[in-house]
Amino acid sequence: MRIHQDTITVSTPERESFVDITGKITRYVKEQGVQKGMIHLFVPHTTAGVTINENADPDVCRDLLFELKKSFPDRKEFRHAEGNSDAHIKSSLIGPNLTVPIQGGKLRLGTWQGIYFTEFDGPRDRKLHVQIIGE
Ligand code: ZN
Repeated sequence: MRIHQDTITVSTPERESFVDITGKITRYVKEQGVQKGMIHLFVPHTTAGVTINENADPDVCRDLLFELKKSFPDRKEFRHAEGNSDAHIKSSLIGPNLTVPIQGGKLRLGTWQGIYFTEFDGPRDRKLHVQIIGE
């Protein structure tokens, strides 16, 4: 069993966005030559996250973001001095990590699944820690 650890940079284009990182993660797995195991993704930020959802129709992520913005707007009652409490809330809801199985050297995603880095206080260059455990 081998362990590969790296940090990938993800550039986010707007204050709030879902960035499809499926291709980036697929390439990383291929480069490491791991045939079976798992990859763990960890976002070391408090206003971003990582999730899996449909990547066939881009409107799915558009609708997700629309609903997150609508359900968790900035509020005058928030106390956090930085003024980005809405971003912290969305980040906690989406979560900071994800594990995907690897089989036959490929990510074992469902047909319609893609991996998204979710930004809630960009645009910026973000870090994504990746760890593969496998052989
Ligand atoms: Zn803050």
